[in-house]
Amino acid sequence: MITHGRELTGDTRIDCDVVVVGSGCGGATLAMRLAEEGRDVVVLEQGGHYTSRDFDQREANMLAKIDGGRGLDTSEDGSVSLTYGNNVGGASVHYWADSYRTPPDRLARWAEEFGIEGHDLAALSPHFDRIERDLNVHEADDSYVNEMNRRVLGAARAFGWDVKKVPQARRGCARSGHCMQGCAYDAKQSQLVTHIARADALGARIHSDVRAERLVWEGSRVAALEATVVDRGTQQPRGTLTVRAKQVVVAAGGYGTPTFLLKQGLKERLPHLGEHFFCNPCPMIHAVYDEPIVQWRNIPAAWGVEEFRLARFDGDRYVEGGYLLMPNQLQPAMLAAVLPGAGPAHRALMANLANLGGTIAWIDDAEEGSIRLEGGVRKIHVPLDGLNGQILRDAWIKQCRVLFETGAKELIFGDAADTRITRPDEAEAAVASIDLRPSRNVLAAPHPGGCARMGRDASDSVVGFDHRVHGTDNLYVADPSVFPTAPSVDPSLTIMAFSYVAAAAVDAAL
Ligand SMILES: Cc1cc2nc3c(=O)[nH]c(=O)nc-3n(C[C@H](O)[C@H](O)[C@H](O)COP(=O)(O)OP(=O)(O)OC[C@H]3O[C@@H](n4cnc5c(N)ncnc54)[C@H](O)[C@@H]3O)c2cc1C
Repeated sequence: MITHGRELTGDTRIDCDVVVVGSGCGGATLAMRLAEEGRDVVVLEQGGHYTSRDFDQREANMLAKIDGGRGLDTSEDGSVSLTYGNNVGGASVHYWADSYRTPPDRLARWAEEFGIEGHDLAALSPHFDRIERDLNVHEADDSYVNEMNRRVLGAARAFGWDVKKVPQARRGCARSGHCMQGCAYDAKQSQLVTHIARADALGARIHSDVRAERLVWEGSRVAALEATVVDRGTQQPRGTLTVRAKQVVVAAGGYGTPTFLLKQGLKERLPHLGEHFFCNPCPMIHAVYDEPIVQWRNIPAAWGVEEFRLARFDGDRYVEGGYLLMPNQLQPAMLAAVLPGAGPAHRALMANLANLGGTIAWIDDAEEGSIRLEGGVRKIHVPLDGLNGQILRDAWIKQCRVLFETGAKELIFGDAADTRITRPDEAEAAVASIDLRPSRNVLAAPHPGGCARMGRDASDSVVGFDHRVHGTDNLYVADPSVFPTAPSVDPSLTIMAFSYVAAAAVDAAL
């Protein structure tokens, strides 16, 4: 049953086998698996419960409902814009549905460099098989290819780059292009219509508008979890919910989980909590064409350039790569917000919006950031100098190459200096001139994680290979906070597969 906050009044107490904080890819998958094992599961989600009936395809409305911070949150110095979920189903409700398995080279690196056990290719493959079946993951077919994708594919092939169809979690896609506003057709296979729906059908109790606040300890065991029932309209507390569970799982996402655990005062015992943060900062370039592109129709990314997924080095010297490169898709209101300038120049861009295309890259963070609390307020640091900056610049250079090859007449970087170029030979100097200091660029950060990483003990990590927080009897983490690094591809399938492993550990401990 999915219960809204308004249905809870006063102070409620419930008992269960497992309480899960957060209902995104991590929490929903784990809740479903434990419900399948016959466990009594309670899920607490601080955001609202919205369904396809609520998804009106209007950007401002949907940003307010399903985006954490209404899409306006940034890192502490404005280096990156934080994009994350805040609703039943989490970020998957507004994700693009790109569904990559973790590359074997990344799993091997996690095992060799970080000593990760129990999450190798052999362990995860059966979970990937099932997740792909349940989410109808399939290669993007030709009908998914919009004009921007068609052009990026042609350019990448002309350069001889490795470009592949992006696996998609969709069933009966209407090709509306409104993936980021929540799928009004229930075609995108978000957690809302897959794992949440199945957990619900199996008897899990899912509470929206309930924010987990405090763990009550009896020695090293969590005896209870105290939560606030939030009024969705005013965000004011309307009651409390106390859950007594045998096992407690935090799956509040790459931003939410470290914040929640830091608020429990665990940093002293767990020095790695809040460290090793990654978020795949995303540099983009807008491109002006003579012909209509209409980037906001059909799916965002049918084809992806994998040529540069892994960074290449000559000895210690960075050469190139360390990102996925994709066609971009932004809807008109978001374009209005991220396109540079004001007044007549901005108006001219908006008048020509149909002829605007672009690309985006996910940087595989080479340098770690952090999340900490300052006076109880979350502060996120993302380093963009050093190697991350070199990778960013290379991603911009490659985007310039692709976009001119696709026939673009002008490229717009969207930085504070409003850098624009009209010829390929201007790219290098333009990219070198971009100021990477905070608040100078529009970089999204949609794939956070790493702040409760997995390892042997508290000297190198926060959770063990069974996802249990070191030094606790019954507290677990099941989301990308446990990854030792970013997975080098979009993370949703990796998160879900890890949750299968976490669910087995939690189940075994019951
Ligand atoms: C625009 C966009 C596009 C994306 N596209 C793709 C894509 O194509 N492919 C892909 O693989 N990935 C994509 N991602 C990333 C992917 O959606 C996320 O990595 C994934 O959904 C994260 O799952 P999660 O369970 O870790 O966290 P979330 O989905 O963020 O879920 C965590 C939930 O916990 C809740 N929560 C937090 N704190 C509390 C608390 N104290 N009490 C109760 N609840 C709490 C939050 O409200 C949230 O709903 C995209 C992300 C964005 C933003």
